Amino acid sequence: MISKSPQVYVQGVLSRDKRLLAKTITLVESSLAEHQILARKIVDELLPKTGQAVRVGITGVPGAGKSTFIESLGTMLVRQGHKVAVLAVDPSSQRSGGSVLADKTRMEKLATLDNAFIRPSPSGGTLGGVARKTRETMLVCEAAGFDVMIVETVGVGQSETTVASMVDFFLVLMIAGAGDEIQGIKKGVLELADAIAVNKADGDNIVKAEKARKQYESALHFLAPVSPNWTPPVMTCSSLEDQRTGIEELWKTILIHREKLMASGELQARRRKQALDWMWSLVDEGLKTRFNEHPGVKKKLSGFLREVERGTKAPTIAAGELLFLLDKEEAV
Ligand code: GDP
Repeated sequence: MISKSPQVYVQGVLSRDKRLLAKTITLVESSLAEHQILARKIVDELLPKTGQAVRVGITGVPGAGKSTFIESLGTMLVRQGHKVAVLAVDPSSQRSGGSVLADKTRMEKLATLDNAFIRPSPSGGTLGGVARKTRETMLVCEAAGFDVMIVETVGVGQSETTVASMVDFFLVLMIAGAGDEIQGIKKGVLELADAIAVNKADGDNIVKAEKARKQYESALHFLAPVSPNWTPPVMTCSSLEDQRTGIEELWKTILIHREKLMASGELQARRRKQALDWMWSLVDEGLKTRFNEHPGVKKKLSGFLREVERGTKAPTIAAGELLFLLDKEEAV
């Protein structure tokens, strides 16, 4: 049963009631209008209790070792007394019907820990829609007292930029390949990185990983640093349970980055900019929803699409007439 009172959920989240936390996130992810209205009220109430967590974004190609790495980092942090939430942004989940980040059993050990919370990517809608849901879920988890947020994504479309725009620290996980390391990655991703970690630096792979590390390091030299106070380091690590190396160093790096950017005011500025990005993405999403759900648009859209396709109506005229329908509703 869905209760209609936001207070029930707000209190449940604040007292870390796992059942109500899960129900609140279900409301956040729901596409039903009445759920969304309720979710908005809950998130608005929780907002003052958010903002304290360390927010870390992680990207890497499938197979780079993201889930193994997050399991390693997450269990280490829980052991240190942290409360860790792991969320995912995977826009492929609505394109292919199967999510890259959910099609296997992931982070089994971390999932069993009391102070860890793992939520797969919400599905349905545009990348903007998926991102909104993840951002709101992040805030709900923060209000519930989780102090480390890990948001994972794969390199699909703009998903990396989207995740980077909701976190404090963006980590790019790489693996050493056979050939030229630099060819295979998008330059834009390097520009987003606050650190690069070459994973699987273990066994026979140590030398290759170190070589890759040096290549990435020189690639980064050609990029203008995003912050005057931070040069993104390139590190190596191994996430395997029995050979774990570099994970603790990475966490230390994240904390040093945090300290430096807090001292310079950049972290606060970054979050302020993110608040604006968030507002604009809500406006974009809201406008699209209003457009798609407008009765006049619904009636005319398929006919207009056919006409534009056939060439009997100009795209400019079709777009103008459709947008005019929105104005007409407001005039009523
Ligand atoms: P994801 O798709 O990025 O989440 O990658 P996974 O975490 O599922 O890892 C893909 C494969 O790489 C699995 O078989 C892992 O066991 C392996 N793997 C992950 N991290 C390491 C590591 O640090 N060293 C080695 N040797 N293998 C790893």
